Amino acid sequence: MSDEPAALARISLDAVRHNTQLLRRRAGRADVMAVVKADGYGHGAVPVARAALAAGATWLGTATIDEALRLRGAGIGAPVLSWLNGPGSAWQTAIAHDVDLSAGDTALLAEIGRAAIRAGTTARVHLKVDTGLGRGGCPLAQWPALVDAALKGEADGTLRVAGLWSHLGSADDPHDPRCLAQLDLFRAAAEFAGRAGVRGAVRHLANSAATLTLPEACFDLVRPGIALYGLWPEEPLTAADLRPAMSLRARLTQVKRVPAGQGVSYGHAYRTARDSRLALVPLGYADGVPRAAGNTAPVWVSGTWHRIAGRVCMDQFVLDLGDTPAAPGDEVVLFGAGLDGEPTLAEWVRRLGTIANEIVVGIGARVTRVYTGQP
Ligand SMILES: *Cc1c(COP(=O)(O)O)cnc(C)c1O
Repeated sequence: MSDEPAALARISLDAVRHNTQLLRRRAGRADVMAVVKADGYGHGAVPVARAALAAGATWLGTATIDEALRLRGAGIGAPVLSWLNGPGSAWQTAIAHDVDLSAGDTALLAEIGRAAIRAGTTARVHLKVDTGLGRGGCPLAQWPALVDAALKGEADGTLRVAGLWSHLGSADDPHDPRCLAQLDLFRAAAEFAGRAGVRGAVRHLANSAATLTLPEACFDLVRPGIALYGLWPEEPLTAADLRPAMSLRARLTQVKRVPAGQGVSYGHAYRTARDSRLALVPLGYADGVPRAAGNTAPVWVSGTWHRIAGRVCMDQFVLDLGDTPAAPGDEVVLFGAGLDGEPTLAEWVRRLGTIANEIVVGIGARVTRVYTGQP
């Protein structure tokens, strides 16, 4: 125990594999791109990528080129797409490392083409169309010009159109009519590109929610993120038999008796109702425990839930254990898979009014990630 970190995120790679296999089945004939942006949603991009690839994912997805290069640096050779890069990005390095790139306008496409010439090879690009999200991607009115520019790049050998893609705006409810309208527009945009002469490009649209609930959105490739980690942005995590991969744990730093009426933590936002044991947990908002969890979120201590007492500080918070026996070094669980009775992230999400994504990506660098299961 002495060598164990005081606070850790235990990550089950078996859960990642299970979730990947489930997504693969749901994707039907489509391939699975495991989205490992933001350090694998806080779980560790490299171990998650390896587990997902071992379980049948064939692509990896990242926001930035840096994230993609980190996968290459770890020796991962699977196809990787990086989709969020602006003018002046490290295109040439990305191309030299076989990283697929997204382009949603002709200026960016031209930059990528020039970088391909410098790299002495062909850049693989995925043309992104905005089908209604109103975020990144090519407006429909400019889609013909983008497709035309990409075909010119194919003709002169600088570019290869490897993908056609878009992103859904309300996929948490894939039966939302806006989602179905995006589906139709995406199909039309891909057909347009095909008629114009684009051949062999993989079409991809679906995130986790669409993969699990909207088979017609799966096309050739799906891009699940949050579901790989066994989470669902807002609804109960039991949906679709996903297994939460992360469990956030800490060992009590101190336990002490205090009298009734003791104010607890900054501002005394909590006060003991009776003689109590206070326990100090070495995790705070610097570690990703939201400040909003003060007086709100549950923590599991030897079989029972205790609400966080008072404010969450930068590095620590306090629990009022009442008469519950506890000692420094005892393990507490903030959230986990729920199999031993500990709170799940879904419970935290319900009480805090946020989404699971925001909590897991916020778990700080100071929290050691410990992996269990097959790598
Ligand atoms: C983050 C992201 C995904 C994954 O979304 P989830 O809802 O987490 O499955 C897919 N595609 C793009 C473009 C993304 O940015």
